[in-house]
Amino acid sequence: MEKMGVCSICGKGAKLFTCSLCGREVCAKCYVAGACIKCLEGKK
Ligand SMILES: [Zn+2]
Ligand SMILES: [Zn+2]
Repeated sequence: MEKMGVCSICGKGAKLFTCSLCGREVCAKCYVAGACIKCLEGKK
């Protein structure tokens, strides 16, 4: 389910997605393949 709110990463108001790894709510720009970009960055 999608909802509106403030992205935890970039701080912009947008439609939010929940990261399946950390549970952070992030916008479409900060959300890639089911996880937030922070998790993707830290997972090298
Ligand atoms: Zn964002
Ligand atoms: Zn995450």
